[in-house]
Amino acid sequence: MSDKRPLVIAIDGPAGSGKSTVAKILARRLVLRYLDTGAMYRAVALAARRAGLGPDDGERAAALIAGVPIAFGEGDPQRVLLAGEDVTEAIRTPEIGDLASALSVHSAVRRMLVERQKQMVAAGGVTLEGRDVTTVVAPDADLRIFLTASLKVRADRRWRELKQRGIETTLDVVQHQIAERDHRDSTRADSPLYVAEGVTVVDTDGIGPEEVADRIVALL
Ligand code: C5P
Repeated sequence: MSDKRPLVIAIDGPAGSGKSTVAKILARRLVLRYLDTGAMYRAVALAARRAGLGPDDGERAAALIAGVPIAFGEGDPQRVLLAGEDVTEAIRTPEIGDLASALSVHSAVRRMLVERQKQMVAAGGVTLEGRDVTTVVAPDADLRIFLTASLKVRADRRWRELKQRGIETTLDVVQHQIAERDHRDSTRADSPLYVAEGVTVVDTDGIGPEEVADRIVALL
């Protein structure tokens, strides 16, 4: 028997590149746990919003959430629990996404969440996704993937997703929000979004998530 820990797959990439969809497919196919790190930033943003904090209140948001559990559903890892409360839907609004993006710039917030995420990955057997998982959270993952797609394709995906959930907005607005988020995620001083050495880039323009997952499984 090898003493190697079970498989860890880290999926990085910008908004709308298909990280969540592909990570979920991989988790199902390879029988791995699924860890959505962005959901944790969103949970912090929701707690911050409820406490009346804004995008510049990184230190206060980190203090607010210290000791407050952010967990995923036992049977359904897509359910997000903030201090035991199911906030799965509440964290998926564009406003909370924006605040999460703004708060994620602050090192105090990142430090706390990265620490928790590292603990969640330590035992292995997990597919995790997010904008720093190949570089900071799991730089030693067995497989590190960076998904990309053009801004137009990513905006279109996100817009359809929002429409499906009954959130009315225009493609233009979504494209603008994604461009802004790309800029913020790539230029922040702490853990910017970038393709690290040794990470495999997979362009998802024009290919569906199952096929993207096929390509990743083929790399194993
Ligand atoms: O992936 P999702 O859109 O749910 O993430 C919300 C925000 O949290 C992102 O815009 C990004 O700024 C931030 N985030 C991060 N690092 C991660 C995951 C998400 O900075 N690992």
